Amino acid sequence: MLRVGYDEIIERIKKEKGLSDIEIKGKIDKKLSDLAGLISKEGAAHIVANELGIKLFDKAMMEKVKIKDLLIGMRKVGINGKVTSVFSVNSFIKDGKERKVGSFMAGDETGRVRIVVWDEKHIKEMEEGNIKEDVIVKVENAYVKENNGFKEIHLNGNSILSVNPEGIKIEKVSDVKAANIFRKKINELKEKETNVSLIGTLVQLFQPRFFEVCSECGKKALLENGSYNCEQHGIVSVKSVPVLNFVMDDGSGVIRTVAFRDNACRILKMDEEKVLELKDNAKFEEHKLNIEGNQYVVDGRTSKNQMFERVEFVANNVKEVTPEILMQELG
Ligand SMILES: [Zn+2]
Repeated sequence: MLRVGYDEIIERIKKEKGLSDIEIKGKIDKKLSDLAGLISKEGAAHIVANELGIKLFDKAMMEKVKIKDLLIGMRKVGINGKVTSVFSVNSFIKDGKERKVGSFMAGDETGRVRIVVWDEKHIKEMEEGNIKEDVIVKVENAYVKENNGFKEIHLNGNSILSVNPEGIKIEKVSDVKAANIFRKKINELKEKETNVSLIGTLVQLFQPRFFEVCSECGKKALLENGSYNCEQHGIVSVKSVPVLNFVMDDGSGVIRTVAFRDNACRILKMDEEKVLELKDNAKFEEHKLNIEGNQYVVDGRTSKNQMFERVEFVANNVKEVTPEILMQELG
């Protein structure tokens, strides 16, 4: 992940705005107390820089968004996708003038999303048949809206739509349509909620457990008569993947959360190989210190733990809170 660190931000503010260390620190402390508990010192510094009009990020960062990570309300966002279907262009009258709107579906390896175009030059790309199945599109400077429970990417006159841009390949497109994910507070969560998203601090981490999966298909493999069996592939070699339990706190409450495999690795900031080292208690205790206190966005669903009579959370997508996510959150 690209990051701009605390000290670097202070330097940028000093240089570009001529403020003193004390003035800058005062602004950051105020931001920290305004947003009590929600952000780190670094996060506060990012917001202060943003409010002062300092551009800490180049646009490459927002161009790297994967479809599953799109959030309603994101602006200046970019994605790459492969077109999976194209809808017709429709005309309508607004303010006595004929306008057009067109849309198509595109996907990457994480999901699919509808892309809606309103600007003449983008409409023209559609009318000329340049937007068609299997074409790669690169969208820049667009925004994300909700429509009937799904996320949509909308392009306006300032957005850029490139068709078959050089150097971008998308091999496999996910079938998952980018459902609208609702940001909720932990104290608002009920049983059986899906497509919800939390943002908060990981306050307690438990040692990961591991299970064995088929090294061919990644499905759970069962130990039978001393060898591992995959339903599809028979006797197979296996690899260990993690299950991770932790507690999230967003200021409104706490919730016990479980994450599997890639998501567990992302929380732990380790790859599948490295994570195996955490089977060692001492290694885990040491690594835990790097993780507790970090902030994450966790998308997923609730689940009722019958034994403990409590609602828990099952993560299906996690990411670390970055300053740009915070800025989107805070408008
Ligand atoms: Zn298998």
